[in-house]
Amino acid sequence: MATTAQTSVAAHPRFEPVIGLEVHVQLLTASKIFCSCSTRFGAPPNTNVCPVCLGMPGALPVLNRKAVEFATLAAMVLNCRINETSIFARKNYFYPDLPKGYQISQYDKPLAEHGYIEIPAGGAGTSAGSNGGKQKKKIGITRVHMEEDAGKSLHEGFPDSDEKTAIDLNRTGVPLVEIVSEPDIASPDEAYEYLTRLKEIILYTGVSDCNMEEGSLRCDANVSVRPRGQNELGTKTEIKNVNSFRFIREALEYEIGRQIDVIESGGKITQETRLYNANEGKTYGMRSKEQAHDYRYFPEPDLLPLVVDEKWRAEIARALPELPEARRARMVKDYGITEYDAQVLTVSKSLADQFEEAAKAAKNPKRVANLVQGELMGRLKAKGIAIEQSPISMRGVAASADLVESGTISGKMLKDLYDLSFERSKDFPVVYEEEGRPQQSTDTSTLEKIIDEILAANPKQLEQYRTGKKTMLGFFVGQVMKASKGQASPQLVNELLTKKLG
Ligand code: ADP
Ligand code: ZN
Ligand code: MG
Repeated sequence: MATTAQTSVAAHPRFEPVIGLEVHVQLLTASKIFCSCSTRFGAPPNTNVCPVCLGMPGALPVLNRKAVEFATLAAMVLNCRINETSIFARKNYFYPDLPKGYQISQYDKPLAEHGYIEIPAGGAGTSAGSNGGKQKKKIGITRVHMEEDAGKSLHEGFPDSDEKTAIDLNRTGVPLVEIVSEPDIASPDEAYEYLTRLKEIILYTGVSDCNMEEGSLRCDANVSVRPRGQNELGTKTEIKNVNSFRFIREALEYEIGRQIDVIESGGKITQETRLYNANEGKTYGMRSKEQAHDYRYFPEPDLLPLVVDEKWRAEIARALPELPEARRARMVKDYGITEYDAQVLTVSKSLADQFEEAAKAAKNPKRVANLVQGELMGRLKAKGIAIEQSPISMRGVAASADLVESGTISGKMLKDLYDLSFERSKDFPVVYEEEGRPQQSTDTSTLEKIIDEILAANPKQLEQYRTGKKTMLGFFVGQVMKASKGQASPQLVNELLTKKLG
């Protein structure tokens, strides 16, 4: 898994942080939540709009069935209880990119509640590391509710951007789920791990692409500190609009340090919204919560209560995929691979699917897993390409694994063929054909000649072997392999050498 173990501030002796995350995920429906406008990203500004999503008086919202199904599926994989009846409400506030003057959301009766995500205890870097991902911690999910997105204010990119803000309303009415965590997260590393898991789980369901650059996953981080041993929560601040998981971790590190400094120097934390400046690595106060936000929620009069009854829930549950955690456990069992192997091979659903296909086709699945990590990942990393764009497909890896397994090619030959695959951007079987289906040398007489030469050239080592240092066999095998330029079969060399040395 690609969690980079970042240096984190050492745990403070007297204070501990408390973190709760609010994550917005865009659902990948073709049309918006209350109208039939397209949700396509990147359309010309203000073209995917209609009276409903523009909030014209008298235009009536109609709930998108697919959005409900996607939201329910997301809530299910986050282990939530689905409320049979949930209520849409108007959340009233003024903002230039909110033409209606209110957002339709869910308030006291959300779609789902009481869920959780399991993370490795301690947070990032431990998932495949020290504790082998074995110690788990549950982060509670308070609620998952449905809502519509607002439009987008564009503060730059136009000739008059220094004076004016442009508004694109294509995004108004795009369906979202908001996933609110309990304040169970105890460090920036755990926050990072929670987000990584959350994204992984949602990606597996296919209800969102969780693309942060395009805004289909957004996270607000709430954080407070309190003296160790105190139950009561401290006053929190909320960090908004941070655009990567790494920056969220950094912003939290900074903000925790800042809050501790304020308190230790006798000050008080004010409840406020803060912005993170990634260049400076600092957060800045944006608006205080005191003066803000009485949303005057009330039930949306144009929508009936949403009822997701048992029959519908069962129907939706049929689309439940096997989740990464369960899949890894099964893969370890089915293919005899390690937990670490399974971690690497399930970074995305498509990779895991491909691996399983290859593992089933190959004679030895463990060898496939080893090749992916030992030979493929390094080459991909060196070239800076994702595994999905690998010139060698999983089928190619399986084919190459079988050739080594049967002794047709040596490990050294496989390495050379992989190099050629990367040079030519062609899959392994293609390159293997192009190279004339090479085979490792099983020509006994040539090998015997090499062996004689090697033994003659290393009298000292030979003497050592003869006087009882049997480990010298390895040295001779190595020398013969080298002399054969990797073409010899190690098993055969071993056999012949053992025979010769008596
Ligand atoms: P608000 O009313 O300010 O939106 P909520 O109670 O709805 O606050 O909580 C929003 C998020 O903040 C949740 O994820 C919750 O877990 C988290 N949270 C609440 N109180 C604290 C606190 N004192 N410290 C850290 N996180 C908190
Ligand atoms: Zn519309
Ligand atoms: Mg809230």
